Amino acid sequence: MMTKFLRDKIAFLLTGVMLAVLLISCQPVPVAESQSPKATPTTATFPPVASPDGELSAAPAKLPPLPYDYTALGKAIDAETMKLHHDGHHASYVNNLNDALKQESGLQKSSVEALLRDLNSVPENIRTKVRNNGGGHLNHTIFWQIMSPEGGGEPTGEIAQEINRTFGGFDEFKKQFNQAGGDRFGSGWVWLVRNPAGQLQIVTTANQDNPIMDGAYPIMGNDVWEHAYYLRYRNRRAEYLNNWWNVVNWPEINRRSQVSLQLAS
Ligand code: MN
Repeated sequence: MMTKFLRDKIAFLLTGVMLAVLLISCQPVPVAESQSPKATPTTATFPPVASPDGELSAAPAKLPPLPYDYTALGKAIDAETMKLHHDGHHASYVNNLNDALKQESGLQKSSVEALLRDLNSVPENIRTKVRNNGGGHLNHTIFWQIMSPEGGGEPTGEIAQEINRTFGGFDEFKKQFNQAGGDRFGSGWVWLVRNPAGQLQIVTTANQDNPIMDGAYPIMGNDVWEHAYYLRYRNRRAEYLNNWWNVVNWPEINRRSQVSLQLAS
C-alpha cells in the first residue's frame, strides 16, 4: 500500500512534468519555416551552371576570355570560325544583354541564370532581348569550357558509366546526340542534360534557349547555329557534329555532371 507521503510526492512530480510540457508547447516551433510552400527553386538551390566560379554577372555582363588560342581546336573548328564566334557573336550577346538591362538597375542585381529561370520577372518590352542575349552569353560561356585542345576520345570517369547505363554505350549516345543536333530545325543547340528527375537526357533548344529554362542542368552542349560551322563545313552539319567529338573536354564534362547531381538531391 502506498503511503500518503508517497502519493503526495507522485502528485507533486506529475504536476511538475505537466507544467514543463505546457511551457515547451508554448515555445515557437522552429521547423515552421521549412514547411512553408515551396516556390520555384531559387538561385541558391540550383547548382552553378556557367562555371565553378559561380553565376554570370549582369552588372554588367562581361565577355569571358577564350581559354585557349583560336587555332587550338583545329581538329574540329578552324581559327577564323573561333575568332568570329567568340569575338563577334558571343561579344554581341554580351553587349546586347547589357543594352537591354541598362535602364533596369534592379534586374542587374540578378545573375544571368536567375533572369533566364524567371523570365516572367523581366518586363515584357525587354524579355525577348534578355532571353536571346542572356541565353547566348550563358550557352557560349559553357561551350568554350566543355571543349579543349586535349579533348576527344572516349569519355572517362563517372559520366562514362552513366552514359553506358542510360544510352547503352558511348557509340549509341553519340549517334543519338548527333541525330538530335541534325534534326534541330534552324538555329539552336543540342544538349546532354540532367533532367529534374535526375536522369541523363538528350534535348535540343531553339535559338539561344538554355535547358535551365526548363529546370534541367546542361552538362554539355553543341552549338548547331550555322555560324558555328559554316566556314569549314558549309552546309554539312552532320560532318561538323561528327568531328566535334574530337575536341570534347571529358574532365570538365565529368565535373559538370557531378555538380548536376545536386539538382536531384
Ligand atoms: Mn554560337
